[in-house]
Amino acid sequence: MSAFNEERVLTVHHWTDRLFSFTTTRDPSLRFSNGHFTMIGLRVNDKPLLRAYSIVSANYEEHLEFLSIKVEDGPLTSRLQHIKVGDSIVVGRKPTGTLLIDYLLPAKRLYMFSSGTGLAPFLSVIRDPDTYEKFEEVILVHGVREVAELAYHDYLTQTLPAHELLGEMVSKQLKYYPTVTREAYKNTGRITTLIENGKLFSDLGVPTLDREQDRIMICGSPGMLRDLKTMLEARGFNEGNTSKPGDFVIERAFAEQ
Ligand SMILES: Cc1cc2nc3c(=O)[nH]c(=O)nc-3n(C[C@H](O)[C@H](O)[C@H](O)COP(=O)(O)OP(=O)(O)OC[C@H]3O[C@@H](n4cnc5c(N)ncnc54)[C@H](O)[C@@H]3O)c2cc1C
Repeated sequence: MSAFNEERVLTVHHWTDRLFSFTTTRDPSLRFSNGHFTMIGLRVNDKPLLRAYSIVSANYEEHLEFLSIKVEDGPLTSRLQHIKVGDSIVVGRKPTGTLLIDYLLPAKRLYMFSSGTGLAPFLSVIRDPDTYEKFEEVILVHGVREVAELAYHDYLTQTLPAHELLGEMVSKQLKYYPTVTREAYKNTGRITTLIENGKLFSDLGVPTLDREQDRIMICGSPGMLRDLKTMLEARGFNEGNTSKPGDFVIERAFAEQ
């Protein structure tokens, strides 16, 4: 059996000139956990050109959804950004990754710290009813440069709280905290700064980070991952992985060149 499925593009939505989302058909045999990423891409000169992508859609949905950057001279995304409904996409059959609630020890509160396209895996995690079973409070923090890059903002503030099955849990347990670094907005500043100066916690009305009560997932730039990991380890948090659950788990939103 091939390591890939060929899927068809169902919808495309451009958020900005640097960011877009798309949905595709899903082979019913594709299995994944919420928070996983897989290899996806296009056939170029009859060879698959693939990159790692977090799966935005939840594992019980019939379609697949992805959130993508557009890198001007990027081998994949210089092409992928032009996809249209009906086009073919290659999707790897072996999703994997560390951003799973299973890799976190039980606690009261789950934080998800994301920047840019690092939001993608958490859109899947926050649509998993098990997330709300395991954690009393679920906090999604999304940092971007410009307000227009707050992808899924309206979905998170309006659509999801009204969701037929998840709406009640989401309204009671999920807090969404968008923050912007290069424009005026209701919340501004880098996530690391907002943690250090305590503003994130006072704005949310929760205590500051505490290993007894809090678990953390992080998905962002390699720099953000490094800084947050150092901050958490200084506070006594232990990193978890696919073989040993811990207090926090990390995944890169992209690799540096
Ligand atoms: C585990 C993992 C999960 C990923 N999930 C996603 C995802 O859900 N959505 C997504 O758009 N990308 C994601 N990426 C990045 C993705 O694999 C590709 O790098 C991206 O699609 C660009 O591909 P490219 O061939 O056009 O350029 P590449 O040659 O792959 O990248 C060129 C450069 O562009 C920059 N870059 C690449 N991706 C990003 C990004 N997402 N945000 C900001 N700058 C970036 C980096 O500086 C990189 O060195 C993920 C990467 C990893 C390792």
